[in-house]
Amino acid sequence: MIDAIVFLGIQGSGKGTQAKLLAERTGFQHINIGDLLREQVNLGTELGIEVKSVITRGELVSDHLVFKVVEASLCPGCPGIIFDGFPRNQAQAEHLVSHYRLARVYYLDLSESEALSRMQGRQVCSKCGANYHLTNHPPAQPGVCDICNGALIIRADDAPEAIACRIKAFFQETYALKDFFSRLGVLKTIPANLSVTEIENIIQSDFTLD
Ligand code: AMP
Repeated sequence: MIDAIVFLGIQGSGKGTQAKLLAERTGFQHINIGDLLREQVNLGTELGIEVKSVITRGELVSDHLVFKVVEASLCPGCPGIIFDGFPRNQAQAEHLVSHYRLARVYYLDLSESEALSRMQGRQVCSKCGANYHLTNHPPAQPGVCDICNGALIIRADDAPEAIACRIKAFFQETYALKDFFSRLGVLKTIPANLSVTEIENIIQSDFTLD
């Protein structure tokens, strides 16, 4: 079985940022299911057409499609996988522990109100996908990407109704996984309001490759 690390947390808790940093340090593959699903939507594939309205409403995509996307994206020969945005419910968590050797689950703990304010100001580059935030990480020129000059847009599922739906899904389906992973002895909770570097350092001193 291949080693897996999971980042768990409410939307806006910084899972993606930390998953990317850990992937760079370890050479593990970083799998972000939301990005993979959005890619399918943009490509207009059969799967993309099937999931588009679900994602736009902010609901969870069905488990069998998520498993399909995960399996199709695995890189053969990678030393391990970092899951970001997976699992999001009990069935997915059970699938994970039966298919991978789960080394660690990092729970990035953020209050609902802070998550809301982080999501509400979010903008993303329509060309290269870089993330910005109107107050926490604004672009040098409003509406324009610092990296590629692409136009900044608000993701359809960052619309207020979709945000409310995604937060509700987090508390209804995902939050309880904290206890599931804690019982398995693999959970480490980190306050998500620390700086990116502080969180990175905590993870670095917790997880090293042998
Ligand atoms: P994210 O960018 O991680 O917030 O994901 C965007 C959307 O993709 C979510 O609102 C869901 O519709 C879908 N999605 C991502 N990961 C999962 C998952 N593990 N299970 C079901 N749906 C997911």
